[in-house]
Amino acid sequence: MMSRQIVQYFVVFLFGFQNVYCQKTLGAIFDDGTFLMEAAFTVAAAAASDGSETPFETTVVRTAPGDLLETERAMCSIFENPFFGVFGPTVKGSIEHVQSIADMYELPQILTAPVETQNRNWSAINLYPHHIAYSQVFADIMEMKGWTEFTIVYEGAELLYFLNNILSFEDFDQGEHVVMNFVQLPDGDDYRTQLKMIKSSGSLNYLIACSLEKLTQFLQQAQQVGIMSDNHSYIIMNPDFQTIDIDPFKHGGSNITGVRFFDPSLESIQTFIAALNEKVKELSDGQIEVAVAENGLTFELALIYDAVTLYTTALKLIGNEEGANITCEEEESWSLGSSVINHVRTIEIDGLTGMVKFDQDGFRSDFEIDVLEVVGHGFEKVGTWTGEDGYIEMRTVVPSTEQEGSETMRGKHFIVLTALSAPYGMHKESPAILEGNDRYEGFGIELIEELSKMNGFNYTFEIQADGVYGSYDAKSGKWTGMMEKIMDDRADFAITDLTITAARQKAVDFTSPFMNLGITILYKKPTKQPPNLFSFISPFSLEVWGWLAGAYIGVSGLLFILGRIAPEEWQNPYPCIAEPETLDNQFSLANSFWFTLGSVLTQGSEIAPIAVSTRMAGSMWWFFTLIMVSSYTANLAAFLTVESKFYAIKSVSDLANNPYNINYGAKKGGATFSFFKESDNLLYHKMYEYMDSHPEYQTSTNDEGLERVKSDSENYAFLMESTSIEYMAERNCDIAQVGGLLDSKGYGIAMKKNSPYRQPMSESILQLQEQGVLTRMKDKWWKEKRGGGACADDDAGSGDAQPLVLANVGGVFIVLAAGSAMAVICAFCEMFIDVWAISRKQEVSFREELIAELKFIFSFGGDVKQVRHREPSNSGSGESKKSKKEGDITGDVESLKDEDVKSESPARSERSTHSHHTLHSRRQSNAVQMARMRKYSRNL
Ligand code: GLU
Repeated sequence: MMSRQIVQYFVVFLFGFQNVYCQKTLGAIFDDGTFLMEAAFTVAAAAASDGSETPFETTVVRTAPGDLLETERAMCSIFENPFFGVFGPTVKGSIEHVQSIADMYELPQILTAPVETQNRNWSAINLYPHHIAYSQVFADIMEMKGWTEFTIVYEGAELLYFLNNILSFEDFDQGEHVVMNFVQLPDGDDYRTQLKMIKSSGSLNYLIACSLEKLTQFLQQAQQVGIMSDNHSYIIMNPDFQTIDIDPFKHGGSNITGVRFFDPSLESIQTFIAALNEKVKELSDGQIEVAVAENGLTFELALIYDAVTLYTTALKLIGNEEGANITCEEEESWSLGSSVINHVRTIEIDGLTGMVKFDQDGFRSDFEIDVLEVVGHGFEKVGTWTGEDGYIEMRTVVPSTEQEGSETMRGKHFIVLTALSAPYGMHKESPAILEGNDRYEGFGIELIEELSKMNGFNYTFEIQADGVYGSYDAKSGKWTGMMEKIMDDRADFAITDLTITAARQKAVDFTSPFMNLGITILYKKPTKQPPNLFSFISPFSLEVWGWLAGAYIGVSGLLFILGRIAPEEWQNPYPCIAEPETLDNQFSLANSFWFTLGSVLTQGSEIAPIAVSTRMAGSMWWFFTLIMVSSYTANLAAFLTVESKFYAIKSVSDLANNPYNINYGAKKGGATFSFFKESDNLLYHKMYEYMDSHPEYQTSTNDEGLERVKSDSENYAFLMESTSIEYMAERNCDIAQVGGLLDSKGYGIAMKKNSPYRQPMSESILQLQEQGVLTRMKDKWWKEKRGGGACADDDAGSGDAQPLVLANVGGVFIVLAAGSAMAVICAFCEMFIDVWAISRKQEVSFREELIAELKFIFSFGGDVKQVRHREPSNSGSGESKKSKKEGDITGDVESLKDEDVKSESPARSERSTHSHHTLHSRRQSNAVQMARMRKYSRNL
């Protein structure tokens, strides 16, 4: 001690009093591991000395962070010369160690670090804002924002002191429903696990208290995890928030709020940064060119500058005093120490970090701080907080309508909710392990991709695991599924086969529809029927066949009557006799039926009407048969070539009446089910009641519906939307759409009510529609991808003519065979009757006569038949000598000549006709003429 004073006096003698006693040394210990603190400190000291009568010297000792031994040695080395206080260090343990030494020697220790344990009586003067006041800043901001739930993300337990007023609910006016979650960030730089937890908790507001290094990582990973969308809000407590690169986060849509103590654009700040860089360069021997960027000045560096300014100001005010002349070996304290400390606490300066002043407890509680928000162009000051007035917002609200269309979406990040419903959203089939959005593909996925390109937004897909699209639950008064998530801001958009319904439209907004559809039935394809043997009956209904038979009988009867009435039909059988005794009429009852039958079967007959009336009736009948026969032929062709199918249901009314006991249902809580529920149509309402009373027929997904329809063990029809049926019918050839559409509606993208994104998204969808992109996409996902087009050939050839197989025409053969058999039976009956009549008449044995007749028949001995029993009147005439042939003819003619004579009965003439059916008609006609001639000559 003595030797040091001797040296000092010697120095005074050599250099003069002024230079030693008017120069004040400021000691500093910095353990930040850089040159920055030292540079800031020396720059500030130089600035304080500038133009001052008492220049300030600096003694700076750099130590390893947290090394207490080194810190203690540093203190002792500062003690070697008289000094006026010590600045630093910055690491917690070292601060406390220096503090205890400073307390012992009553040395002012000037701190610029967040120290939660401070005491008025201690020697430390801390320029870092007091934690109580600092926490009040954020409590006020949160209150202003109206947060009712939030998650506190913090780095170390010591930072919890700075949350003091936030943790006490009383200070939080809107604390009625305050819900807090705490998440501590782990060591290292991967916080995704914590972020996923935060996300799954459903929390949307986050208060972040962590170091600058962790902050950037945290925000990046929050973006990856998908909690940086429009719905999420962040408040960053770190006062250096403005120094991070905000570009990656400014378009994400989330609200990010922070604070700053100074505006980096101020001239004083920029001058300080320039001097700082200069100093760092000097200290690092030119190795570090630029240590601090234009906006990179940290609060701590600015605080060091302010600390030096404040302290030197106090020293200047105190005047020329003797510095602390102490040693590590002796416990003698600095006599002026406590008065300097007290003096520093009473003055105030306007520093780089705003007004620096202390409250009566010696803490910096009253400060001014800017509140910033991240906007499209970077940071924007939205308010100020002061100890006196609290938080005052001064934001200029830019109405969102001023933003041009898609500009509102550019750069933002959205959570897009989708469901695994083919082909709208599906898991991509890939041998590689996929991540993020790459895991999904489908129509909806591609549509969002297109829309994001057009509007410049980013997105993360989230799957609605339970596949519930959403309906209003009247019991709970809440929406379910995707609707609920959109309404609760848990997702920004929802895209899948999500139907736009009136009820949903009240709760959320929809874009213009990107696809149109209607409700219809999914059911098994109709089963093919085996060909019908009697399909030739099918062209006419039974009713028509009945009317046809009636017309036949009616017209035949009519011709018979007309024939009798019309004088022209009574013809002279012997034209050479002018006044015949009798007249003949061709329209006997039998001939009338024969004539009409001949025309229906397009074979004709030798009977030709003569009178106008009969000709008229006849020609009308021909016309009728022409149309009927051609209609029959045409329809028969169709019936024979078209495969007949069995349709258990053809329309929704078949399903409602349900004659085949088909179970039916729709997707639970889906738009289809709601359609039936809301409908006032009696039929649909009946179906709703059926479905409602059979919850087991409702399904969770469309795929489940499809499986039930296909299942052989169940007779099930599924009510669903036509576009989805189209997709399924392309791949499952055993099912098909049944009946038409019950309604007409569309799918849209859902978003929160009054969303500013509705218009740009709708415009883009319309553009895609006009450019044909949506049609191309539909063809791709419906007909090409994932087995599309599998059933394209299924119905091919059904329109081509098919050769008729026996099964098609077998019935006609049966009729022919049956008719022939009947004819044979008739022929035998006629023969038996004839043989019986002859045997009686000729008084011969029936058996003999029959055997003789059968012998003749089955001898197949030519077409001339010997008359075995001739009439006695004819036996003596010369005609008996005539040839067999002629006799035969004469016998026949005898019968025939009585036919159609006015006085004879039709029954007899008919019998005659039948008994001689074997004669050739031409010969018969000649013979009739001859017989008539003979009869005429006899009469003469
Ligand atoms: N598209 C329907 C909805 O949005 C789901 C399927 C259905 O109900 O048929 O709810």
